[in-house]
Amino acid sequence: MQEILDPPFMRNVGLLVTFHCQAACDHCVIRAGPDRHEEVDLEDARAWIREIAAYRDRYVCVLSLTGGEPFSNLKLLRAVMELAAEAGLFVSVVTNGFWGASREGALKLLKSLPQICFLSISTDIYHQKYVPFERVENAIWATREAGIPYYVSIVTDSEDEPEFLRVKAEVLKTSEAENIRTGITFPVGRASQIKSQLRYSLTDEPPKEACQAASSPCVFPDGRVYGCIGPLIDLKNDHPLLLGSLRETSMKEILDRAETNAVLHALRLWGPKRLITMLQEAGLGRHLPVEFITGSICNACFSLMSNAAVREWLRELAQDEEFRRKVAYGRLYYLHESGMLEVGGYTELDPALETVH
Ligand code: SF4
Repeated sequence: MQEILDPPFMRNVGLLVTFHCQAACDHCVIRAGPDRHEEVDLEDARAWIREIAAYRDRYVCVLSLTGGEPFSNLKLLRAVMELAAEAGLFVSVVTNGFWGASREGALKLLKSLPQICFLSISTDIYHQKYVPFERVENAIWATREAGIPYYVSIVTDSEDEPEFLRVKAEVLKTSEAENIRTGITFPVGRASQIKSQLRYSLTDEPPKEACQAASSPCVFPDGRVYGCIGPLIDLKNDHPLLLGSLRETSMKEILDRAETNAVLHALRLWGPKRLITMLQEAGLGRHLPVEFITGSICNACFSLMSNAAVREWLRELAQDEEFRRKVAYGRLYYLHESGMLEVGGYTELDPALETVH
């Protein structure tokens, strides 16, 4: 099987279908569970999907349905997928695979949902308290049998942890290594309640990686749109990755904002580390954490966005012309994206090119 690559910027838009889930995993960022019943209203979904499909004349290709557990309300999932398919969008779905009670049943279910073009199946020590691995194995088998591309997502507080290695070894019996994605748990959302149990390692060096997840904005049932489906939804305050609300602003305007959001694209280009370095250079190091969770860019990003003084500095930085030019050229050079150059009018060669790196 070929390696699964993330779609380019904004070719993929997420829609959180439901907060309901039959599991209530200790690490869940959005605190989904059996007692959560907020879900997208079908009329809202109809309007939003039309707007997503119409944006820049079919620029967005994929609608990623997430939750909660999207399969927990099959009627709603089917209806939303049909709307997406009618609008010409491909559909990907995130799931914990609880529906894999048997191989045959799982395959029958997937065949009844022909709009699914991609599946992301989550399993790890947290999910396995609720969803036995046999079900996930059946779901993976059915996914392969149905010819649906997929990856398996495994999170852990430490990649050396024996239970993580056990889960990964189990998954490797069913799937190639390139079909596995891993992430680091950190104390946000429901995981903030198990902080003392998490065994991640700490370092005084911010993680170096850039953020790929911020390429896909995500719409929530209440109409808010975030720059990623990540931990930032746990923040109550306004912050640069909260792109707007569809109750007040059109989808087009919000997606246009994402295209020109310099902080969001700086995270995509350089990760939180660049912003942390800039904060230190600006004499604001006192607002930064002294330690970071090894390998977790989301933890570093969350630390930045949860600090009021840093948020204020980021708001000013987002308007800074020199920074905007660097981000615009960085996108062109590293990501082959010209969106900000065109909108910003940075069409002539500029001295900022010398310092993009
Ligand atoms: S690094 Fe920040 S922008 Fe990227 S997924 Fe994590 S929280 Fe979202």
